Amino acid sequence: MKKILFVVCTHGNELAGLHLFLTQPYGRLRNTEWEVVIGNPEAMMLNQRFIESDLNRSFNAKWAKSYEEKRAAILKKRFNGYDVVYDIHTTQVMQTKLLDDCMFINTIDDKAITACSYVSAKHIIWDSDSQYNKQYLTGHHPVGVTLEYQKSGDYLEDVNRIMSDFYNIVRTHKSEVFPKFLYKADKPVTQIEQSKYKLNFSDFRSLNEREKKVLNLKKNEDYVPVFVNPLNVDPEFYCFLNKKHKLVV
Ligand SMILES: [Zn+2]
Repeated sequence: MKKILFVVCTHGNELAGLHLFLTQPYGRLRNTEWEVVIGNPEAMMLNQRFIESDLNRSFNAKWAKSYEEKRAAILKKRFNGYDVVYDIHTTQVMQTKLLDDCMFINTIDDKAITACSYVSAKHIIWDSDSQYNKQYLTGHHPVGVTLEYQKSGDYLEDVNRIMSDFYNIVRTHKSEVFPKFLYKADKPVTQIEQSKYKLNFSDFRSLNEREKKVLNLKKNEDYVPVFVNPLNVDPEFYCFLNKKHKLVV
């Protein structure tokens, strides 16, 4: 029996996952058993990202002070006994018109890749820095997958994508989305670099020769940005670059 924990509303203004909690909070099938918990209930009830500190950056606090740091400590204990933890997000940050949902994993092994194989998102990003990823919820479980759905502008459409992946996960049905692309998180690009080199990126669009050259990246590697931010969204951070690692099917 494979035990799966889903966490929804880790960011309190990402409400599409709440539907999963309300309709399928617990269940059991022949080979799987699951539970759904709410990451940040206080923020969720106010429909805001967090109360005192971003919960998905609060998992490495040594002494829990903020509401979210205390909540992180409680959630960590809750992970015991589960084979996989999925943390469900619906971001507004990505600016891509196509629905390029993605997943983040913290370790790369068969268990993590199998956990991703049920999900329809095409892109898998491996956060390989084991110190850095300890701030994230999924960095505290050996098989933790962060599911990052883009808000499509249609709430029910977002709910449908989450629920469709949920059914595939609990029924262990592999997703039909092939191929999946695997990237290794590489480095951030600042707004200063953006304006200096007049960069105009969009999420998951491979960098061209000129862009790689000005950023001192290897010519023969393939890089894609995620979380591309216009200046008015984040004054410092323009995007995060990921290096194509290898193709997974
Ligand atoms: Zn989120």
